[in-house]
Order: sequence, then structure tokens, then C-alpha cells
Amino acid sequence: MLNNVVEIARQYMSLTIKEGDTVLDATCGNGYDTLFLSQLVGSSGSVYAFDIQKEAIERTKRLLSENECDRNVSLILDSHENIGRYVKSIQFAVFNLGYLPNSDKSIVTHAESTVNAVSAAIQLLNSAGLIVVCCYLGHTGGITEFESLLESLNKYDCDCYNIVVLKHLIRHDDAPRMILIEKK
Ligand code: SAM
Repeated sequence: MLNNVVEIARQYMSLTIKEGDTVLDATCGNGYDTLFLSQLVGSSGSVYAFDIQKEAIERTKRLLSENECDRNVSLILDSHENIGRYVKSIQFAVFNLGYLPNSDKSIVTHAESTVNAVSAAIQLLNSAGLIVVCCYLGHTGGITEFESLLESLNKYDCDCYNIVVLKHLIRHDDAPRMILIEKK
């Protein structure tokens, strides 16, 4: 249950998301999170899935189609900074940061665009909605990205949001971290 941030993120998805919800996968990559979200929101819900790489959009499309889960998903080849152009409100968002596995590792998420995208997602978040951010510190810029996120989140009002950081205590210092943002 607590083995890694992806597994922990899945627990929060299952806990929070209901059929009919509108949710966001801010980095669809190989499509595994998008597929899980699509199954949770069901045919009456909607998933908006973003990636800046055509390869990621194609991999996600293929995975969804193999699992007959493509009808409730909009795949968007654009930066997650621009989510406000496509979605009006969301109940849940997942940001699984870093690079696309088995691909060009130089194409990664970056501090500035990630901070902008997470603040955009917070603006769109419904009451009782949740944003889960999986941060990988091992790649170039990963630590800066994580620290920039913490700095930007510090400004939010604790009367309106709960913001929690998870870290594996007995692992190496650059083990992945998770940030959870709940709108009250
Ligand atoms: N959620 C994915 C899954 O289940 O397979 C894994 C995501 S992978 C770790 C990170 C992805 O973020 C990569 O596919 C990369 O192309 C994408 N990415 C990088 N910068 C981005 C941006 N500005 N907007 C959207 N996606 C971005």
C-alpha cells in the first residue's frame, strides 16, 4: 500500500473519485494513470489527459483502446499550464512528474511550468477536491521543481486548503515525494 508514490496516489484516487466526476491527468505519459482514472469516473465522467509529447498521447490512446476505456477521455497534446483553456472545474488531478519511461529522458517536467500548472489546477478545483503531485528528485531539476512547488504552495490559506507532504522516512534522500492538496 505504501511501497511507492504511484501506489499511494492510486489509494487517494480510489478514495476520492466517484462515478461521474471530471478529473485531470496532467502528465499522461504511458497512460496508466489515465486508464485508472477512466475506470473510476465511468461512462458518466470525464478525464482530461495532457502531455507535451505526441508519443505519450499515442501510447495512452493505445492503452485506453486495448482496455475499451477511450470514450470518457479527452487526450490533449499541450502543456498542463494551459488546462484552464480546456476544463472549467475538476474534482481530482494527478501530476506524475518527471520523464516518459523508455523515451527521451531530456524531456522532463520543469519547475516553472509545473508551478504554473499546479496553481491553475488549484483554481479549477471543486470543494472537497484533491490534487496529488508525485515528485521525482533524482532527475536533473527534480529537486528545484519540488522546492519551487513547496515555496509556491506556502502562500495558500490554511482556512481554505489542507496541504500535506509525504516522504519515505527510511529511504535515500532523493526518494520520490508526494504533495497532496485538498480544497476544504
Ligand atoms: N502518468 C504517467 C503514466 O501513468 O504512465 C507517467 C507520466 S511521466 C512520469 C511524465 C510525463 O510528463 C512525460 O510523458 C512528459 O512528456 C510529461 N510532461 C513533461 N512536461 C509536461 C508539460 N509541461 N505538460 C504536460 N506533460 C508534460
